[in-house]
Amino acid sequence: FSVSATSKNASALRARSTLPMKPIELSFEFFPPKTQEGIEKLRATGAQLKTLNPKFVSVTFGAGGSTQQGTLDTVVEMMKQGLEAAPHLSCIGSSKDSLRAILGAYREHGIRHIVALRGDLPSGMGEVGELRYASELVGFIRAEHGDWFNIEVAAYPEYHPQARSPKSDMDNFVRKVQAGANSAITQYFFNADAYFRFVDDARKLGVDVPIVPGIMPITNFSQLMRFSEMCGAEVPKWIARRLESFGDDKEAIRAFGLDVVTGLCERLVKEGAPGLHFYTLNGAAASKTICERLALPKA
Ligand code: FAD
Repeated sequence: FSVSATSKNASALRARSTLPMKPIELSFEFFPPKTQEGIEKLRATGAQLKTLNPKFVSVTFGAGGSTQQGTLDTVVEMMKQGLEAAPHLSCIGSSKDSLRAILGAYREHGIRHIVALRGDLPSGMGEVGELRYASELVGFIRAEHGDWFNIEVAAYPEYHPQARSPKSDMDNFVRKVQAGANSAITQYFFNADAYFRFVDDARKLGVDVPIVPGIMPITNFSQLMRFSEMCGAEVPKWIARRLESFGDDKEAIRAFGLDVVTGLCERLVKEGAPGLHFYTLNGAAASKTICERLALPKA
């Protein structure tokens, strides 16, 4: 993977970079668009990101099945664009029969890669369903489909917000891998030490699957703070205060966000992350610029 840098800034970053030119795997996450305009925008995003030769793209799934058809349609559309596409599947609020039907549909479409999650119950939806945790979903998929699916699970370097303790959260992560996960994607974070410590701790417990950092490009201050509040990711004070100080200056937010997140990715790759998974929010620009600035060789 080798793309030319497009700005002076990029060459400067590369010049001082000590990145070993080792191949890493890129992946990009989308959500199912709800409008025709959204569908067209995502098609263009897929085409732009395809030039970076990603290992796969993934498509989120609304807990309780709210985006069930949209997730499948979006995955099929991405496959038509020549991308390997992995639907997410969450088990909370679902019966085994409904999960069985969704997995059957994925398989019928030739899908072999899946991101298995518990999900979060939307407020007002009472029933937990038949599978309470992602580890149970992974076990269910393996029991029903053997090795057909390559299964990704979620990991939390800053710990899941509902975890009883860091240790119980790590034990849960190990359980998901033991249930049959092939690899993991982390929640996004801005503190690389949290990721490296999480990986070290997991390795000590015998986890040997790739743990790929999830990367959230910074493009919008209020949206970032809202998402982070919901998912428990920490936005360091120095980043939050700088972003806040830019007010409505979108260009300043964009430039600072690119510098911060490129720096984070640079350190992650340099110190051994096996790949980068971008939360694109269905836009290509920020993720693509970061990858171009890193100028990594192709996996
Ligand atoms: P789990 O691994 O089941 O863990 C949930 C909580 O339960 C943790 O606190 C864990 O420590 C605890 N726990 C697990 N097992 C046990 C046990 N046996 N006993 C006691 N406690 C236990 N959400 C969506 O709705 N749709 C998506 O498409 C989606 N995609 C995501 C992709 C990624 C890469 C990530 C990181 C998150 C995604 N999420 C998505 C969010 C995710 O659904 C939430 O973070 C959810 O709260 C937890 O899901 P999980 O699969 O990590 O759950």
